[in-house]
Amino acid sequence: MKRYRVREEMNGVEEPPGKVWFWELAAGVIDADRCVQCGTCVAACPSNSIGVNPDTGLPELVKMCTGCSLCWDFCPRGGLRYEALWPPSSADGDVVRSDPSDPYWKITGGPPAEGLGAVLEAYAVRAASRPDGVQDGGAVSALLIGLLAAGEIDGALVAKPSGDPEEPWKGVPTIARSPEEVIAAAGSFYNQTMALAALDLSKVRLPPNPRLAVVGTPCEVQGIRAMQSRRWWTGAHRIDAVVLTIALLCTKSFDYEGLVLRELRDRRGIDLDRVDKIDVIRGRMIVEYRDGQVAVDEPVKNFHGTALKGCDECDDFLGRSADISMGSVGSLDGWTSVIIRTDRGLQAFEKARAKLDVRALDDPAALIRLDRLDKKVAFASLSRRFDPDAPLFIDYEDHVRDYAGTDRQALVRVR
Ligand SMILES: Cc1cc2nc3c(=O)[nH]c(=O)nc-3n(C[C@H](O)[C@H](O)[C@H](O)COP(=O)(O)OP(=O)(O)OC[C@H]3O[C@@H](n4cnc5c(N)ncnc54)[C@H](O)[C@@H]3O)c2cc1C
Ligand code: SF4
Ligand code: SF4
Repeated sequence: MKRYRVREEMNGVEEPPGKVWFWELAAGVIDADRCVQCGTCVAACPSNSIGVNPDTGLPELVKMCTGCSLCWDFCPRGGLRYEALWPPSSADGDVVRSDPSDPYWKITGGPPAEGLGAVLEAYAVRAASRPDGVQDGGAVSALLIGLLAAGEIDGALVAKPSGDPEEPWKGVPTIARSPEEVIAAAGSFYNQTMALAALDLSKVRLPPNPRLAVVGTPCEVQGIRAMQSRRWWTGAHRIDAVVLTIALLCTKSFDYEGLVLRELRDRRGIDLDRVDKIDVIRGRMIVEYRDGQVAVDEPVKNFHGTALKGCDECDDFLGRSADISMGSVGSLDGWTSVIIRTDRGLQAFEKARAKLDVRALDDPAALIRLDRLDKKVAFASLSRRFDPDAPLFIDYEDHVRDYAGTDRQALVRVR
């Protein structure tokens, strides 16, 4: 058997330097409870060797790993160096690194910007005709519907209810191709969905060269941006099909079972079948029933035990690498804050404008305040993990040794 002979002959050939294998990502991120379930590693793997474990919802190896290193390179908790998107701030909130020529800025596609990041235009927006089930102003859904109607996109990667009666209020990824499917997916799910794993479009009916919008948390948009800026064959996952990224403003996401089943259903006796909306807003967790009764109104810190640990390290509340960022903070109730960051974001917004009521952003300072707080949390979280005398900027050798108990030089990959 010739091919086995070749492999035999290769035994003992030294591994090329700098290879990182999936199990090192597993040790440094997944097993270390730092994974934020963005699905980037699944989408980045050129041999489709990474899948999603149906029980844990976490990435797992489903085929042989070739050691190509890409899962590590693009993971926002691994080699992506997401913190390069924005310099860590000091405990006082001061920005520590702000050299525009710093190559680490490249993922945002432009020089760093203070405040809200790159902004072409910013508004408070609501759907001109507000569909049921939307979270705030329904601006995300209306924008997607407008883009579908204008023929600008063939579909949108969003999150819809799982449909499993055992998993009420769990979001799962889906490609919405019609206004009805967009509306069925409206509202916020406070769990991560391994969204980018759903960019394997082989089982989705779409035209040959599909154009997709992606709605996701900032870490998911980081993964897409990084993969698009460093062109690489990515196996079954169609990163090339993404023509628009919409980041939902995000300070943290949660473990589904911990938040919805344990804390809300079991501990507080919430009847999940009656729930109309779950919201994290103004520092509170609010759950409303369909009859208008407020079933939960508590400080969100009561639920911190169920937040994803990897979110503590994230300081990209504003979704700085997206074409458009959208969230509730900064606008009156019933409106969505919209930050348009890129030309293609602006073009998309213009195409859908007929579907939107648009006015000035109510309170941009509120966005900046929450962004500062998010950075402080990230700074504190990262600082706690390092020697107090260590330099402020993260040494990935330490980083990985700290989490995985390994000091493999190979994991120190700086692009
Ligand atoms: C985990 C999470 C945390 C958030 N934290 C904040 C915050 O701290 N501050 C803030 O201002 N805003 C936050 N938001 C955004 C906010 O909840 C609204 O999504 C946003 O204001 C848009 O409202 P809308 O009415 O325009 O959207 P809608 O028209 O209701 O559309 C929302 C879209 O988001 C998609 N979606 C819902 N959940 C997810 C998910 N988990 N992953 C990917 N896509 C999803 C839906 O499928 C839908 O397409 C968060 C959202 C999420 C999912
Ligand atoms: S954080 Fe994202 S890229 Fe990293 S291991 Fe988890 S799913 Fe994969
Ligand atoms: S807090 Fe950061 S890492 Fe966590 S889900 Fe939101 S964007 Fe992703």
